[in-house]
Amino acid sequence: MSTVSIDLSGRTAVVTGGTSGIGLATACALAQSEAQVFVGDLELRDDATDKLDSLGIRAAVCDVRDLDQLRSLVDGAANDSGRLDILVNNAGINMSGQIDSISEEDWDACLDTNLKAVFFGCKFALPHLRAVGGGSIINTASNAGLLPRAHDPVYSTSKLALVGLTKSLALCHGPDRIRVNCVCPGPVGDTEMINRDLRQHHDPEEAARQFIQASPIARASDRMIRPDEVAQAILYLASDAACMVTGTAIAIDGGKSLGVPPQ
Ligand code: NAD
Repeated sequence: MSTVSIDLSGRTAVVTGGTSGIGLATACALAQSEAQVFVGDLELRDDATDKLDSLGIRAAVCDVRDLDQLRSLVDGAANDSGRLDILVNNAGINMSGQIDSISEEDWDACLDTNLKAVFFGCKFALPHLRAVGGGSIINTASNAGLLPRAHDPVYSTSKLALVGLTKSLALCHGPDRIRVNCVCPGPVGDTEMINRDLRQHHDPEEAARQFIQASPIARASDRMIRPDEVAQAILYLASDAACMVTGTAIAIDGGKSLGVPPQ
């Protein structure tokens, strides 16, 4: 794939959920554009750390639901590199199931990860972004943040609220020259989230085919969207090329959220 040519030298970025899927692809894309990158994740997987190490990306264990750990990740990156310019709130979990089967624990796990941690990640980053005269926050929302789905009301709620939070913060912090945008991908192959989902189907190949069918461009290309294709949009939003872009929710879904596709 041809990639967007962006120069982020001298900039520092933090990516949450950065050792897998979209977060890993984003951390790599930012580092390849010369940003100094710090990632936090629940665990540091060996296959990811090799890749991160090779690009000089620093990785730390960080559970974004633990606000002390989240603050340490953000402050640590700013203190080590002397600045913070970009925050990618990417960590997220799926939550399928109807209201009858959802426990309070499920609700908290999903909303704490997908929404509360994003709010507090932004709160912790703001002083650092203001100190450098502005910056860019990118939240990984979802297709479900544009159109709710019947099979996952809790996940859909978390992502719809995340799109709302993105727009609200964009409005509040425009005067600080802090841009806040989100990407709404899906479905994205080569991610643990989708792989886990596929493993739960009795016919994973058929389930993958249905994901592809639901998105007109994925269908025409006969493949799922890839993590690096989401990362390229995040890279653009992080860069000065998007200096007047704020409060947007960019769908990276091959047209899935547009309506009923042609049969
Ligand atoms: P993934 O499972 O490969 O990556 C998610 C990462 O977040 C993992 O590394 C995981 O360890 C981390 N994470 C989860 N909970 C965390 C926590 N409490 N603290 C820190 N890290 C945590 O899946 P992905 O698809 O790359 O997911 C990234 C984001 O993309 C998520 O916000 C997800 O909701 C969103 N998304 C994914 C798809 C898709 O089809 N894969 C579609 C739309 C949106």
